[in-house]
Amino acid sequence: MAVRITDTCISCGACIDECPVEAIVDDSDNPTDAEIYYVYEDKCVECVGHHASPACMVACPTEGCIILVR
Ligand code: SF4
Ligand code: SF4
Repeated sequence: MAVRITDTCISCGACIDECPVEAIVDDSDNPTDAEIYYVYEDKCVECVGHHASPACMVACPTEGCIILVR
């Protein structure tokens, strides 16, 4: 139960402050060394208990960039 940021991420930063559980890190902290933002899937709760829908997906301007992983 998590979301994943894919390689269409433009590192705009719109998602990171929306996450209620601090699951998102920016490109400089991406543990895979890819130059995109990253979601720690073990921290992400898909915003359940916080928002009606995943806040990062709502905030992201790049369609299809953040996907559900189940
Ligand atoms: S879905 Fe919610 S909890 Fe998961 S990374 Fe996005 S904002 Fe954070
Ligand atoms: S909002 Fe979307 S494009 Fe912007 S940093 Fe987050 S995942 Fe990347």
